[in-house]
Amino acid sequence: MTFSEKLLTVDSQSLLHLVNQVTPEQVERSLARRETNFSDFLTLISPAAAHYLEPMAQLAHNTTLRRFGRVILLYAPLYLSNECTNACVYCGFSIRRTLPRITLSPDQILAEAKYLKDCGFRHLLLVCGEAPSIVPVAALEQALDLLKNDFASLSLEVYPLSEPGYLQVAAAGADGLTLYQETYDRNVYSQVHPAGRKRDYDWRLEAIERAGEAGLRRLGIGVLLGLHDWRSEAVALALHADWLMKRFWQAQISISFPRLRHAPDSFAAPHPVCDTELVQLMLALRLFLPDAGLVISTREPAELRDRLIPLGVTQMSAGSRTEPGGYLHPAEDGSQFSVEDHRTPAQVAEAIRRAGYEPVWKDWDYQMHENHGNNRQREAQAGA
Ligand code: SF4
Repeated sequence: MTFSEKLLTVDSQSLLHLVNQVTPEQVERSLARRETNFSDFLTLISPAAAHYLEPMAQLAHNTTLRRFGRVILLYAPLYLSNECTNACVYCGFSIRRTLPRITLSPDQILAEAKYLKDCGFRHLLLVCGEAPSIVPVAALEQALDLLKNDFASLSLEVYPLSEPGYLQVAAAGADGLTLYQETYDRNVYSQVHPAGRKRDYDWRLEAIERAGEAGLRRLGIGVLLGLHDWRSEAVALALHADWLMKRFWQAQISISFPRLRHAPDSFAAPHPVCDTELVQLMLALRLFLPDAGLVISTREPAELRDRLIPLGVTQMSAGSRTEPGGYLHPAEDGSQFSVEDHRTPAQVAEAIRRAGYEPVWKDWDYQMHENHGNNRQREAQAGA
């Protein structure tokens, strides 16, 4: 059974009804338990639990220290192209927007990568829109081949591929895939994706499974917070991450929290998520999924990112540019979304140190996650 098929069996409306009925006593009982199960997770995303963020934060902090230690992995996105055939209403790269379209040449890719390597990065996320005639799988393979000797980890955030496509990029040096479903609600999904291949909800949702089957070992998921009711998204997101952790027990599963803040052309987030709600979601996910990586990007402002460090974050981007070629030639009019944390990578690393954590530039957790994976395999087998 695919996750898409599983999700069809979930009665989200009934679960949300339960969430809205949660009492303070139920929250206290969930917080007192040694392990947070899915029912507790529903309790912890409830309106009632919003009054318990302090004890949740303490538990999340302790859980993260036990599982990950005091380290934050730093990574940077490298945009290969802003060409796209989709028309996502929230995105600066939509085919319906006028902007300078740029696809980096191999020399430009190398130059941007050298800049990032000189900043200290050893983990890159290669990003492009969905324009396979301009950036085919062969171009992704070429970019990976150019970079694989200089970086410890190369993940992709690109359009969904077939399983043979994921096998090709894995062979070329990719070890991870980040792919946000944006929203798990099929109606909202079809409203915000009016044209292009991305309209196919299931092709996108199942991509992360195809990547896992192809052997990619860092799998990242997320929703674009603001498109739909966050509690409804949280239910599906938690189920998805849990399902992936059991299915691909040897992979590191990460959850990102991209939040719509300033969308282009007056598109306003229909369900804005405030800072407190973002924190509640992160804390509840940390307690339910202690082994999951939690990722905060430069979409969020510096002050908030610094406050989130002790609450369960394990990975942060830094110094990001979201336009192709933007590290060496910044140009705001070609960017995907606006960055809110404008600090340099060195300044972000210093802020992490000031918070009492160690900024890590190179893979630190693979072995640890292999061990966690083994634990998860045992748990999955015990529960099967
Ligand atoms: S979100 Fe991705 S697929 Fe959609 S328009 Fe932007 S780059 Fe293209």
